[in-house]
Amino acid sequence: MAVMTPRAVGLVILLLVLPASAVAEVNVYSARKEALIKPLLARFTADTGIEVNLVSGNADALLQRLQSEGPNSPADLFITVDAGRLHRAKQAGVLQPVDSVVLRNAVPASYRDPDGFWFGLSLRARPIMYATDRVAPAELPTYEGLADPRWRSRLCIRSSDNIYNQSMVASIIAANGPEQALQWARGLVANLARAPKGGDRDQIMAAAAGQCDIAIANTYYLGQMLKSEDEQQRKAAGAVAIHWPNQNGRGVHLNVSGAAVTAAAKHTEDAVKLLEYLTDEPAQRWYAEANDEYPVRPATPLSPTVAAWGTFKADTVNMAVLGELNAEAVRVMDRAGWK
Ligand code: FE
Repeated sequence: MAVMTPRAVGLVILLLVLPASAVAEVNVYSARKEALIKPLLARFTADTGIEVNLVSGNADALLQRLQSEGPNSPADLFITVDAGRLHRAKQAGVLQPVDSVVLRNAVPASYRDPDGFWFGLSLRARPIMYATDRVAPAELPTYEGLADPRWRSRLCIRSSDNIYNQSMVASIIAANGPEQALQWARGLVANLARAPKGGDRDQIMAAAAGQCDIAIANTYYLGQMLKSEDEQQRKAAGAVAIHWPNQNGRGVHLNVSGAAVTAAAKHTEDAVKLLEYLTDEPAQRWYAEANDEYPVRPATPLSPTVAAWGTFKADTVNMAVLGELNAEAVRVMDRAGWK
């Protein structure tokens, strides 16, 4: 028999006393702000007795961590934003498919991976926003119309390395093909009021400040600005309005925040339980409202802020397609000179 150090003996005893399966817990890697997810996880623990250990971090860094940890990763559930990122995680081999009737019934097919590798938890709309004192609603364009020369030097949008824009361009490719998407991107770049910089909020601020007339941004940023403690943000948000484009066509471009069970999961069953919990009506309501997003679960009531923006027709392209077309979207933006 091999000689064991006292420490090794202690470890063996500990492992015998505490088999991993006896601990009802889920380890979550989340790219969302803690305030957007922590209260929900606490409620899950209170309802089910399953402990949740939350690691929050940057979306790309967490994906990299999952990849480098490989099968040894402690993570059971990965929560992140954007179909493009969820697709990247699937491609990287760090996710596993989940077959759940509960999830299939809760999440419409276009908001989840067709192979069950990830599921949307909330929806974000990326419409056109405009300065109400300089643009008349009747002249507002479709997404395609943003390339029209009449908008020369009047658009604000962030850089092409941002995944929201990559997914939006992917939706243009899905709708119109890569050649037309390239022509469109060239027209859009020609219409920029300034070189892309900052985040979505900065585009709204710029439109309010008169640096451009139209800004492209996710609606929850407008919601957060409307409720901001900072008066400048509130004022800027009040100076713009939302235009829902392409209402006679495919509809408004949407994206998802979503979650997936990791390939390395040691608590798969409990991770699926948490995933199902997050798509249940009460969680959906809270989660969407916390970030002024839209629930993925149909017929879930909207928050008052979001409801005030009115209803609109949404693009029904499967979110997975946005991920599949990501590389092509990046190429198109690059060729169009979108910085
Ligand atoms: Fe965001």
